[in-house]
Amino acid sequence: MSSDNCLFCKILNGEIPAEIIYESETAIGFRDINAKAPTHVLVIPRKHISTINDIEVHDETVIGSLYTAAREIAVQEGIAEDGYRAVMNCNESAGQTVFHIHLHILGGRQMDWPPG
Ligand code: AMP
Ligand code: ZN
Repeated sequence: MSSDNCLFCKILNGEIPAEIIYESETAIGFRDINAKAPTHVLVIPRKHISTINDIEVHDETVIGSLYTAAREIAVQEGIAEDGYRAVMNCNESAGQTVFHIHLHILGGRQMDWPPG
């Protein structure tokens, strides 16, 4: 299920290149093109879902798999023990710019709280 003109669906289809470092049946992970930390990976579901507001009850397994991906990527990247942030922005006020949900996995440096 992909959506026309969605950047991340194009990465899923192979139309736009990305450095994919994780793949499962339901999700992929690739490096953010504008990294905000030494490790900055985006985890997206293979299913196009525009925002958190569009998640439906039957998507729960897919959403859960994004966190399984986060856990495995953190080990792969060597940031699991020190710690990392897993964050998903929703709509304009949170700074969402790509409307295909994605979990940002950020690590390799000290994170500030609260986020800006
Ligand atoms: P958000 O602002 O939460 O919607 O995050 C979108 C993220 O996608 C930003 O961190 C961008 O740097 C990243 N991004 C945009 N285009 C690409 C791309 N072609 N490949 C990898 N990451 C991208
Ligand atoms: Zn999409």
